[in-house]
Amino acid sequence: MENESLNLPNYNIPEDMRDVVAVTTLDRLYNWGRRSSLWPLTFGLACCAIEMIAAQMARYDMARFGMEVMRPTPRQADMILISGTVTKKMLPAIIRLYNQMPEPKYVVAMGACASGGGPFKEGYNVVAGIDKFLPVDVYIPGCPPTPQALIAGLIKLQEKIDKQSLKKARWYQKGKEDPNYVPMPILGPDLIDVRRSEEFKKAAAVKEGA
Ligand code: SF4
Repeated sequence: MENESLNLPNYNIPEDMRDVVAVTTLDRLYNWGRRSSLWPLTFGLACCAIEMIAAQMARYDMARFGMEVMRPTPRQADMILISGTVTKKMLPAIIRLYNQMPEPKYVVAMGACASGGGPFKEGYNVVAGIDKFLPVDVYIPGCPPTPQALIAGLIKLQEKIDKQSLKKARWYQKGKEDPNYVPMPILGPDLIDVRRSEEFKKAAAVKEGA
């Protein structure tokens, strides 16, 4: 980023000092660092993952955005790209990976399957969108989205990060329970979201009473 864009808008820096002085805020500085080094988790689910891999190759080269360091461990990853069909059997593993990522962390739903189930939406074994469980920051349409579409989505994520503030960002709020902690779903004959257990109990009681 050029000094000019790091400076606060309209801050009047004398002409002869513009090459050596930058005046900015902590928010802008932190956001700049965070958005310029988003390390994705090495993780793919289905055909969309092939496009994600293509986006990392020389032709598209996500290194231009500081996103080339795909991490093999969630402990070092900043974002998880849900690239493919989310099956009920796979979901507990995805939630575990997400919970193991340190804040700040971001979720990108890549393609029709991750965003809403895609062509397999009615499948008995498919979760109709990862946003039923994880807080998605950016949705990327397509089946599959092209590498260009993925990069456009990641630029949207960068723009979202640009607007974050230290005062409001959830990972800086002391003493508050993490609102994004997702309890592990239970995989039985079907997938059970334990956050909805009260709802299920009430529905069962109504059914028994009927
Ligand atoms: S959205 Fe299309 S390309 Fe992507 S995982 Fe689903 S079926 Fe495959």
